[in-house]
Amino acid sequence: MNNESERRIARNEALLREVNESIERGRWPGDEGRPLKFRCECASLDCNENIAMTREEYEHIRDDGRRFAIRPGHEAEECEEILETHDAYLVVEKLDKAGEAAERLDPRS
Ligand SMILES: [Zn+2]
Repeated sequence: MNNESERRIARNEALLREVNESIERGRWPGDEGRPLKFRCECASLDCNENIAMTREEYEHIRDDGRRFAIRPGHEAEECEEILETHDAYLVVEKLDKAGEAAERLDPRS
Protein backbone atom coordinates (compact mmCIF):
# COMPACT_ATOMS: atom_id res chain seq x y z
CA MET A 1 0.00 0.00 0.00
CA ASN A 2 1.43 3.44 -0.84
CA ASN A 3 1.63 6.39 1.52
CA GLU A 4 -1.22 8.27 -0.11
CA SER A 5 -3.73 5.47 0.41
CA GLU A 6 -2.42 4.87 3.93
CA ARG A 7 -3.07 8.52 4.72
CA ARG A 8 -6.53 8.35 3.16
CA ILE A 9 -7.41 5.33 5.24
CA ALA A 10 -6.09 6.90 8.43
CA ARG A 11 -8.13 10.05 7.77
CA ASN A 12 -11.22 7.98 7.02
CA GLU A 13 -10.85 6.04 10.25
CA ALA A 14 -10.32 9.22 12.23
CA LEU A 15 -13.49 10.66 10.67
CA LEU A 16 -15.50 7.57 11.61
CA ARG A 17 -14.24 7.88 15.12
CA GLU A 18 -15.53 11.43 15.26
CA VAL A 19 -18.90 10.22 13.94
CA ASN A 20 -18.96 7.65 16.73
CA GLU A 21 -18.02 10.24 19.32
CA SER A 22 -21.03 12.29 18.28
CA ILE A 23 -23.29 9.21 18.32
CA GLU A 24 -22.10 8.68 21.85
CA ARG A 25 -22.71 12.30 22.84
CA GLY A 26 -26.16 12.28 21.24
CA ARG A 27 -27.52 9.47 23.39
CA TRP A 28 -30.70 9.99 25.33
CA PRO A 29 -31.06 9.98 29.09
CA GLY A 30 -31.86 6.43 30.12
CA ASP A 31 -29.71 4.95 27.35
CA GLU A 32 -27.13 3.75 29.87
CA GLY A 33 -26.48 0.06 29.42
CA ARG A 34 -28.53 -0.08 26.22
CA PRO A 35 -26.68 -0.68 22.95
CA LEU A 36 -26.20 2.29 20.61
CA LYS A 37 -25.57 2.03 16.89
CA PHE A 38 -21.95 2.90 16.21
CA ARG A 39 -20.28 2.94 12.79
CA CYS A 40 -17.79 0.26 11.84
CA GLU A 41 -14.32 1.85 12.05
CA CYS A 42 -12.59 -0.42 9.53
CA ALA A 43 -10.17 0.62 6.80
CA SER A 44 -12.65 0.13 3.94
CA LEU A 45 -13.61 3.52 2.51
CA ASP A 46 -17.08 2.38 1.44
CA CYS A 47 -18.07 0.38 4.52
CA ASN A 48 -21.22 1.71 6.16
CA GLU A 49 -22.09 -1.09 8.53
CA ASN A 50 -23.22 -0.49 12.08
CA ILE A 51 -22.12 -2.07 15.32
CA ALA A 52 -24.41 -2.33 18.35
CA MET A 53 -22.37 -1.49 21.42
CA THR A 54 -23.13 0.03 24.77
CA ARG A 55 -21.48 3.31 25.67
CA GLU A 56 -19.39 1.45 28.25
CA GLU A 57 -18.09 -0.99 25.60
CA TYR A 58 -17.20 1.89 23.29
CA GLU A 59 -15.47 3.82 26.07
CA HIS A 60 -13.39 0.76 26.89
CA ILE A 61 -12.11 0.67 23.28
CA ARG A 62 -11.53 4.43 23.14
CA ASP A 63 -9.27 4.31 26.20
CA ASP A 64 -6.46 3.70 23.73
CA GLY A 65 -5.99 5.88 20.63
CA ARG A 66 -4.73 2.93 18.58
CA ARG A 67 -7.83 0.79 19.10
CA PHE A 68 -10.84 0.60 16.80
CA ALA A 69 -14.13 -1.29 16.76
CA ILE A 70 -14.86 -3.10 13.51
CA ARG A 71 -17.27 -5.73 12.20
CA PRO A 72 -15.92 -9.30 12.18
CA GLY A 73 -14.25 -9.93 8.81
CA HIS A 74 -13.36 -6.25 8.27
CA GLU A 75 -9.90 -6.56 9.80
CA ALA A 76 -6.76 -5.67 7.81
CA GLU A 77 -4.28 -8.12 9.23
CA GLU A 78 -1.21 -6.48 7.65
CA CYS A 79 -1.59 -3.38 9.83
CA GLU A 80 -3.69 -4.37 12.83
CA GLU A 81 -3.87 -6.99 15.54
CA ILE A 82 -7.14 -8.43 16.88
CA LEU A 83 -7.30 -7.92 20.65
CA GLU A 84 -10.88 -8.97 21.40
CA THR A 85 -13.54 -10.96 19.58
CA HIS A 86 -17.22 -10.33 20.34
CA ASP A 87 -20.35 -11.51 18.51
CA ALA A 88 -21.07 -8.09 17.01
CA TYR A 89 -17.58 -6.64 16.67
CA LEU A 90 -13.83 -7.05 16.99
CA VAL A 91 -11.44 -4.76 18.84
CA VAL A 92 -8.30 -4.18 16.79
CA GLU A 93 -5.12 -2.32 17.56
CA LYS A 94 -3.29 -0.50 14.76
CA LEU A 95 0.37 -1.43 14.41
CA ASP A 96 3.46 0.55 13.43
CA LYS A 97 2.80 3.51 11.13
CA ALA A 98 -0.96 2.99 11.11
CA GLY A 99 -0.88 3.05 14.92
CA GLU A 100 1.08 6.29 14.99
CA ALA A 101 -1.31 7.92 12.54
CA ALA A 102 -4.30 6.75 14.57
CA GLU A 103 -2.89 8.28 17.73
CA ARG A 104 -1.98 11.51 15.99
CA LEU A 105 -5.52 11.84 14.59
CA ASP A 106 -7.25 10.86 17.84
CA PRO A 107 -9.72 13.67 18.60
CA ARG A 108 -9.18 13.06 22.32
CA SER A 109 -5.40 13.34 22.33
ZN1 LIG B 1 -16.29 -2.10 8.11
